[in-house]
Amino acid sequence: MNKILSISLVLIIGACSQKEQKSIGEGVISNFTEIEENTITNLYDAFGEDKSEMQKDFGFSCILKYKGKTILFDAGSNADIFKNNVQAMNIDLTKIDIAIASHSHFDHINGFDYLLQVNPDVKIYFPFDLFWGANIPFDISGEDSTITDSLDKKMQYFGGDFESYEFNQTGRFWNANIEFIKENREIAPGIKLISTSSPNMGYFSQYPKVGIVTKEDDIHDHKSSDAKLVGLKEISLSLETQDGEVLIVGCSHSTVEKIVAKAKSYTHNQIAMVYGGYHLLPYDRKTLVDLSIRLKEELEVKKVAPAHCTGHLAFKILLDEFGDNYLYAGLGETINF
Ligand SMILES: [Zn+2]
Ligand SMILES: [Zn+2]
Repeated sequence: MNKILSISLVLIIGACSQKEQKSIGEGVISNFTEIEENTITNLYDAFGEDKSEMQKDFGFSCILKYKGKTILFDAGSNADIFKNNVQAMNIDLTKIDIAIASHSHFDHINGFDYLLQVNPDVKIYFPFDLFWGANIPFDISGEDSTITDSLDKKMQYFGGDFESYEFNQTGRFWNANIEFIKENREIAPGIKLISTSSPNMGYFSQYPKVGIVTKEDDIHDHKSSDAKLVGLKEISLSLETQDGEVLIVGCSHSTVEKIVAKAKSYTHNQIAMVYGGYHLLPYDRKTLVDLSIRLKEELEVKKVAPAHCTGHLAFKILLDEFGDNYLYAGLGETINF
């Protein structure tokens, strides 16, 4: 009897949650928070005022509206926490026009699983990163291409029909509407994506020149000219405003000063604000003071709104350097631009 009762309860609860999920897409719940024009709100971060049900976690996501388009930039480390924060702010993700993944790291992309559950057709821009879905040509002929003809057809890749092959992989988000960004591009009037690559991290590959290396020590001793680092690809978002470009960065692995310089040269505009992760956690005081001065005086950044991986020391140094032009961008905070 008890067992039957609990099964029925599970069925009723299951039916209710399904109905609630459906009603979101059908617009039955109408009291969603309106994302105001020219605002940016931090949806996912590890610091902020305890003023709502939002949960802090290390990772980054923000939502903004510009020229009528609602844009989601990154989606945090954990899809459940991202979902919690979106619901705590009463945001309707079906209204997202454009989503941008700054780079392939987990703390920026895992929440896209929730976005795609709610809004499966949304356009997502992703850096041209071959390990996460970008298609690249691949040479399948090997070192001695003459050997191919001596092999029976059934031993040749694709029956010997072609020597070069282009991957057509599904990538991290199967069936999603993803476009990979290889270079700087204006995707809508005033909305530009800045493409950079990190010189410090990425994918390293090396093939031994002669023989097969079997011992780990040999790998370290081997000096091959073929050693190659494919820098981590990133995209940043630049929005044209009357005061200059509002630049949104994810983790700035390409270094924040390089992203700023590239945005300036591509847009031919001053930088009104840099919002997001500056990735300055590993650096010492002198390096950070120098960088703050360079951002302000040399690169003429007017306002800073650092978040995510910027780090405590850099928060303090940027605050000292920029004063009133330091905008607080903690979790749940909205900044007007
Ligand atoms: Zn990262
Ligand atoms: Zn990050």
